Amino acid sequence: MTDWTRRQICGVAGGVLATVATPHVGRSQNGPRVVVIGGGIGGATVARYLGDLRTVDVTLVEPKRRYITCFFSNLYLAGLRSLTSLTFGFEALVERHGVKVIHQAATAVDPDTKTVTLQSGEKLVYDRLVVAPGIAFASGTIGNYDASTAEVMPHAWNAGPQSELLRRQLESMEDGGVFVIVAPPNPFRCPPAPYERASLVAYYFKQFKPRSKIIVVDAKDSFSGQELFQESWGRHYPGMIEWLPSQFTGAVKAVDVAARLVVTEGETFNAAVANVIPAQKAGLIAEQAGLTDVSGWCPVDPVTFESTLRPGIHVVGDAIVGGDMPKSAFSANSQAKACAFAIAAAFRGSQHFPPHLFNSCYTFMAPDDAFTNAITFAAEDGKIKATRTFMSKLGESPEVRRRTAHQAVGWYSAFTTDVFGGGS
Ligand SMILES: Cc1cc2nc3c(=O)[nH]c(=O)nc-3n(C[C@H](O)[C@H](O)[C@H](O)COP(=O)(O)OP(=O)(O)OC[C@H]3O[C@@H](n4cnc5c(N)ncnc54)[C@H](O)[C@@H]3O)c2cc1C
Repeated sequence: MTDWTRRQICGVAGGVLATVATPHVGRSQNGPRVVVIGGGIGGATVARYLGDLRTVDVTLVEPKRRYITCFFSNLYLAGLRSLTSLTFGFEALVERHGVKVIHQAATAVDPDTKTVTLQSGEKLVYDRLVVAPGIAFASGTIGNYDASTAEVMPHAWNAGPQSELLRRQLESMEDGGVFVIVAPPNPFRCPPAPYERASLVAYYFKQFKPRSKIIVVDAKDSFSGQELFQESWGRHYPGMIEWLPSQFTGAVKAVDVAARLVVTEGETFNAAVANVIPAQKAGLIAEQAGLTDVSGWCPVDPVTFESTLRPGIHVVGDAIVGGDMPKSAFSANSQAKACAFAIAAAFRGSQHFPPHLFNSCYTFMAPDDAFTNAITFAAEDGKIKATRTFMSKLGESPEVRRRTAHQAVGWYSAFTTDVFGGGS
């Protein structure tokens, strides 16, 4: 292996290939090759856990040099966290976990030749491929909403420039304005997150723009954690948040960015700021690779996370048909570990066991008021089924909720260390 210093590596990283090579002595170069597409929560976790084995040659392909977590980005929108505190690099995966990282997008997968083509045209050969591209937006559900309208009415559903745009808009909004959140149909990334966003922006308004209002125009008639949210909204933000189910409005059909209008079947809303979160599907490379079904998501074997459409290719994270498992960072991380162990077992020719899958979410309704849920899952009849559920209760004391909010902060730190193998 080339004995590059980190300085030399960074020099190369500025070039077209933008390859962060690995100076790690423990990295396997002769072992079976695994390419992982997508260095978000699912992909980084698979790469880290396979890299730790030191017997597998792991290459992670991710265009971004810095990953910003969506989880806790609603705290950023409310002015309670900096974006820097939500930002992670890939250095620890390279230096401590034996992963090679290439900062490019994958543009094509050829399952016959077992190759991944990168933006530069370079090809990577794999023995097993893991695809973890997160989400893309499904076109057509809100007539004219596209990438250019998103520059005026941001979705902020991938953390980064979109979150910054939305934060700037909220900061410059006049007191007394209406903030419209358009909540997407199921299934979508992080079911409680649109309502957490409404809660935390209400917290911000309560302090700085107390005459303002929030209207959530939903594509659904119910939502995750609804009773807990509505109880808290009554307690913290009486009269400030209005939730409109699809049966009242007929859901959003179009937007008018020039006039800042959100148009539903039955009503038109005048928005000082509009956060339009469209319907979702698996990240585009999954579709190109032939991993998606008619639902737009990727069906997988729930034990190995191997695609049921393309053998030898595994999919984890938000992109999969998850059964009872919600599209969350915790789920992606749990699936990724099961997937890494299944791939290692396949290389060794050893038996693999049905995984224990887990999801736990912390949701903020105010900085010192959070609720939590924890669910275990098992693979049954080819599907992921929930087996046990714990959920925070209605009427919990402020002290219990304060403790949960405190635990959430600890979870964030431990979890991101697990995924990226080190701090920011
Ligand atoms: C506002 C909000 C709040 C949330 N809060 C929580 C929470 O409290 N708890 C929780 O568990 N979850 C939460 N989530 C959900 C969580 O962020 C996602 O479920 C999680 O990020 C999914 O991981 P993933 O790996 O599937 O996708 P991602 O983390 O999005 O990673 C996908 C990666 O793939 C890369 N990629 C895409 N295409 C290509 C390509 N062609 N080539 C190479 N790379 C590619 C992307 O650049 C990206 O880095 C929240 C989400 C939002 C929007």
